[in-house]
Amino acid sequence: MKLKYLGTAAAEAIPAIFCECDICKEARKRGGKNIRTRSQAIVDGRLLIDFPPETYMHSILHGVDMTPIKDVIITHSHADHLYPDDIDKRAPVFSHYKCGDDAHFRFYGSAEVGDKIAAVINNERLKESGRFSFIKLSPFIPTNIDRYTVTPLPARHSPVTGPYIYMISDGQKNMLYAHDTGTFFDEVFDYIEKSGIRFDFVSLDCTSGDAKMDNDHHMNLDKCILMSDKLKNIGAADAKTLFCLNHFSHNGGNVLYEEFSEKAGKFGFLTSYDGMETEF
Ligand SMILES: [Zn+2]
Ligand SMILES: [Zn+2]
Ligand SMILES: [Zn+2]
Repeated sequence: MKLKYLGTAAAEAIPAIFCECDICKEARKRGGKNIRTRSQAIVDGRLLIDFPPETYMHSILHGVDMTPIKDVIITHSHADHLYPDDIDKRAPVFSHYKCGDDAHFRFYGSAEVGDKIAAVINNERLKESGRFSFIKLSPFIPTNIDRYTVTPLPARHSPVTGPYIYMISDGQKNMLYAHDTGTFFDEVFDYIEKSGIRFDFVSLDCTSGDAKMDNDHHMNLDKCILMSDKLKNIGAADAKTLFCLNHFSHNGGNVLYEEFSEKAGKFGFLTSYDGMETEF
């Protein structure tokens, strides 16, 4: 399997649009891996994860042809992960497909995600086009999507956004995409342990970098270390599992790429950047 990160930031991105903090100023100066757009990823070039405001920009910057993509799983309804205003760009006139069926676009996620999407795809014109559908996923229930088995697990994040983290398997390799979330619920660890799954790749929420935290709806380096140790302790990960830290905020500690990747590397973690592709 391959995972490509198209965007790797929290909601404000780095640099944040109106921000003059030291991180944003330095990120503007350095550019490169310090420029982080809102979170999105793609599995094997065919299964999209999230639909942020930068989806169009990501398709151009990272050479991702969005036209053949049929399935997008949404982690939760925060606008940096789901930007419904661009859904209609897949509708007739805004886009031209030679065969109607090829245009079909399926969104997957929680009921809360579905509500936000329904407000767009249930308007008369989009409904008539037959190009859109939403499939509600329930926590702990595996679903076949394209060639993958996708299992949503409840995330410790803003409950009104219907947050899920996702186990994705192609039958041979397994990954866990954990955004946005704080430390995992006990029942999530129980489910993972009972399923007997071993992850080849794990993407962990590290919004706060190495800063101390007083909330548990995102994570920092210490919490990522705790989560990776716990996954190893229950046999869901081992020394060969790739752990990658992702979804950084300019309000996090030490989050400039060069400094953070060096520090995270000492704990065996990869650090994501926009355009990074990992094969596992
Ligand atoms: Zn986010
Ligand atoms: Zn800033
Ligand atoms: Zn969020």
